[in-house]
Amino acid sequence: MTTDAQALVWTNWSRSVEAHPARIAHPASTADVSALVRDAAAAGQTIKAVGAGHSFTAIAATDGVLLHLDRMSRLLTHDISTGRVRVQAGISLRALNPQLKALGLALPNLGDVDPQTVAGAVSTGTHGTGAALFGISAAVVGVQIVTAAAQILEIDEQHPWFGAARVSLGALGILTEVTLQCVPAFLLHAHEGSMVLPEVLDRVHELTVDNDHVEFYWFPHTEKALVKRNNRVAEGTVRQPLGRFRHWLDDEFLSNTVFEGINRLARQTPALIPTINRISASALGAREYVDDSYNVFVSSRKVRFRESEFAIPRDALPSVLGELQAWFGAGHENISFPIEVRFAAADDVWMSTGHERDNCYVAVHQYHRTDHTSYFAAAQDIFTAHDGRPHWGKLHTLDSTYLRKHYSRFDEFVAVRDQLDPERRFSNPYLDRVLG
Ligand SMILES: Cc1cc2nc3c(=O)[nH]c(=O)nc-3n(C[C@H](O)[C@H](O)[C@H](O)COP(=O)(O)OP(=O)(O)OC[C@H]3O[C@@H](n4cnc5c(N)ncnc54)[C@H](O)[C@@H]3O)c2cc1C
Repeated sequence: MTTDAQALVWTNWSRSVEAHPARIAHPASTADVSALVRDAAAAGQTIKAVGAGHSFTAIAATDGVLLHLDRMSRLLTHDISTGRVRVQAGISLRALNPQLKALGLALPNLGDVDPQTVAGAVSTGTHGTGAALFGISAAVVGVQIVTAAAQILEIDEQHPWFGAARVSLGALGILTEVTLQCVPAFLLHAHEGSMVLPEVLDRVHELTVDNDHVEFYWFPHTEKALVKRNNRVAEGTVRQPLGRFRHWLDDEFLSNTVFEGINRLARQTPALIPTINRISASALGAREYVDDSYNVFVSSRKVRFRESEFAIPRDALPSVLGELQAWFGAGHENISFPIEVRFAAADDVWMSTGHERDNCYVAVHQYHRTDHTSYFAAAQDIFTAHDGRPHWGKLHTLDSTYLRKHYSRFDEFVAVRDQLDPERRFSNPYLDRVLG
């Protein structure tokens, strides 16, 4: 194991969190992690693993010992007959997806970027879209975890704490290995095009039933939405990926280079935003292509932003968007980032935003150089009025009083935490706030 004594400042991707760990370590094995936990306990320090720092909240921050699992990032074993793979917890989705493809396997669903580690993604309930599908943690069938007592615990589907271990917020211990249930590798047919918001809302049930994965981006101050429909293709369909130029134009130049320029301009002159949004919504034209699932799910995101996202009951969607529209209409602020809406099915993971409820997810974003606080506070008030559950890795100001009421297994999760980490070796101020 190596320590990195010079670099004792840690920041997350969105630059919303900075932490000053006492020590940074790069363990190479579960035994190393166990020894580091034992050392931290002897020194009276807290200890946390970070993934790719893609959480917007301070969920990963520590002023104790910070573990980077970048040397624990291998695919360890696979079983083609069951579709199960065992990985080290520090592997990124970006590294994992092509390795799975080489085995003829894939994760059933993904979010819209891939730098996250498997441990980080499952720990916060990272999800994509699909009304009959689940977040990434639902693919977890087993974890190996180093507890505060430095013991190595295997939690599989039969274990009574299985429901707690899949979305564990980094609060139960250090995940060192994860077993994932994959599906056969698949291609997706992507169909993207614009629609007006009232039509999307009128047809939302049909859209979610008729498509494996559907999401839409509504451009504030306009009625325009970009709707993305991705569907599994029939056996024998061949890949027809986007041409290199179209990919560069849409996904790099327009979505990143031009969008960065737009946000800088919008920051100087917010009055231009409604016009810019109308132009942006029209610039992203219709397109169709067929590609490996992970190439369709994942986009390049180079414009730094802040995000808040809540899971809300599906029938609340028209009211929630109507209330956001009213807030924009009242002239509080002009917002350049589209509102993203996705869908997922109810799961049985105790601290998952999808716990026992079919949801849609509504996400608000703000450019990282622009203050997000009043916009996100207004959005949070709207989401919580509709029983919203905040994404654990995305900005919100809620605490355990609210969250306990919205998770029926909350107290059981806290009881598992009390057993595995009675001295709060893995805690930080964010976890103290949300778990009490
Ligand atoms: C550009 C961008 C796009 C995003 N898109 C999506 C999306 O489409 N869908 C979605 O749901 N979310 C999305 N997110 C949020 C992101 O997926 C989550 O916040 C995720 O947790 C980040 O993973 P990470 O590896 O960066 O983990 P980090 O943010 O570094 O850590 C997250 C949590 O996991 C814990 N952790 C990490 N490693 C371990 C370990 N080995 N053992 C125990 N705990 C550990 C940390 O302590 C912390 O509590 C996005 C974020 C960004 C910045």
